[in-house]
Amino acid sequence: MAKYIFVTGGVTSSLGKGIVASSLAKLLQARGFSVTIQKFDPYLNIDPGTLNPYEHGECYVTEDGAETDLDLGHYERFLNVPTSKANNITTGRIYNTVITNERQGAYLGKTVQVVPHITDEIKRNILILGETGEFDIIITEIGGCVGDIESLPFIEAVRQLKWELNAHDTVIVHLTLVPYLKSAGELKTKPTQHSVRQLSEAGLQTDILVCRSERPIPMDLRKKIALFCNVHINSVIEALDADTIYDVPLLMKKEKLDERVLAKLKLSSKKDPDLDAWKAFLGKLKNPTTEITIGVVGKYVELPDAYKSITEAFIHAGAYNECKVNLKWIQSEGIFEENIATLFKDLNGILVAPGFGERGIEGKVLAVKYVRENKIPFFGICLGMQCAVIEFARNVLGKTTAHSTEMNKETPFPVITMMEDQKKITDKGGTMRLGAYTCELRKGSRGAQAYGKTKIKERHRHRYEFNNDYLKEFEENGMIATGTNPDKNLVEMMEIPAHPWFVGVQFHPELKSTVMTPHPLFMGFVKACME
Ligand code: GLN
Repeated sequence: MAKYIFVTGGVTSSLGKGIVASSLAKLLQARGFSVTIQKFDPYLNIDPGTLNPYEHGECYVTEDGAETDLDLGHYERFLNVPTSKANNITTGRIYNTVITNERQGAYLGKTVQVVPHITDEIKRNILILGETGEFDIIITEIGGCVGDIESLPFIEAVRQLKWELNAHDTVIVHLTLVPYLKSAGELKTKPTQHSVRQLSEAGLQTDILVCRSERPIPMDLRKKIALFCNVHINSVIEALDADTIYDVPLLMKKEKLDERVLAKLKLSSKKDPDLDAWKAFLGKLKNPTTEITIGVVGKYVELPDAYKSITEAFIHAGAYNECKVNLKWIQSEGIFEENIATLFKDLNGILVAPGFGERGIEGKVLAVKYVRENKIPFFGICLGMQCAVIEFARNVLGKTTAHSTEMNKETPFPVITMMEDQKKITDKGGTMRLGAYTCELRKGSRGAQAYGKTKIKERHRHRYEFNNDYLKEFEENGMIATGTNPDKNLVEMMEIPAHPWFVGVQFHPELKSTVMTPHPLFMGFVKACME
């Protein structure tokens, strides 16, 4: 029988519930348990796929093709275990199922209500992961804050489950903030007290309190929190601001979060915690021997969360190369012939980021031209690869009006076109080419060298593809398709072998980079930039 940990949050959002949940999961995994993490998001979208990145940061895609919250990326990066559609549930999805059931007459004439129908559907989704038999422990993170109107049905479902399951099968971890008031020169516990009270008004008593704080929480304050919040003093866990998110598992271990959780669940550790590889990674991360700066060209650069997985993939690849990778975010709308040399001065490489739509596209194309001509290492992801194709068509093949039909339907040289099976689709949500597909790499290519093999599987999220009508002309002029999908012949990777390192990929390698397995292409790109 699986055990369930619920992680709730209060006081404010952005306290890092996802990182705390991932860190706890990592510690339990290090003790031999098989763990997965699930996130409930309280908004009404079916999934975040239709959300603007400015709203919600990056949309993370799973192996099975679900468009999910970026916290799932953290779960995979920490645990090195893939997540799936079942790991991210939104209010929209819950209501959609219930309403569809109602239309099919599934409720036999009953009035359909939040309690029990919506809460039953939430509970079913929590228990699904446990029923697979794959996991000893399921961690469910409830998005938003206690007290939010939207979160109420989730909190209520957890309250019910706590009574339906055995006492030692569930544990609640509540994350709050203990702010430091400069004028008073003190840490303040009142917001935490209020947050715990709000939780208890909804019928839930927290077992463990994790208190985010910028300063150490002294013993007398911990005692006060324990007293007012009905938790044992040992279960008041301090979560100090960390230099890197990858420190958090060790900080939580020092505070014995994992031991407290196991005690509540009446579980004993399957083995001594093994965090050697994790510590080795941290050691490298914190002691780089060289430093490089890579420019990331995109149009959502004001919000680095929009490129979360790319940022983390550079951290992983940098650490393994013992190299500090600084990222310089470059707004593609601000790139022009006149300023590009100044903007790209001192950069060791350029990554052109994924994206959608017309805005900023010419800046991206200019960026590719500059790095191609100046032999600066280039890595293009999804739209980034498509921009490389457009640039090559315009400036090498002389087709000055070449474009993607996403930006210009009338272009005489549609070098990037909509995939055939996308043409009949009108719905926007969940309809792109999503998830993992096989790709075959050309022997001896940069791609094959980086992976050390020729058959790979990577994740996708796109509607447009390279137009194979032009392939011969591209290859004759020095840009080669080095990766293709064997079933559809779709181009997955483009390279310029005469360039020091010029690789564009239609898929999203950043989604598969983890602390334990840095991504081969990011490793290869960082190495090229170091040279
Ligand atoms: N907009 C492009 C497409 O749909 C690229 C998508 C992306 O970069 N994820 O094909």
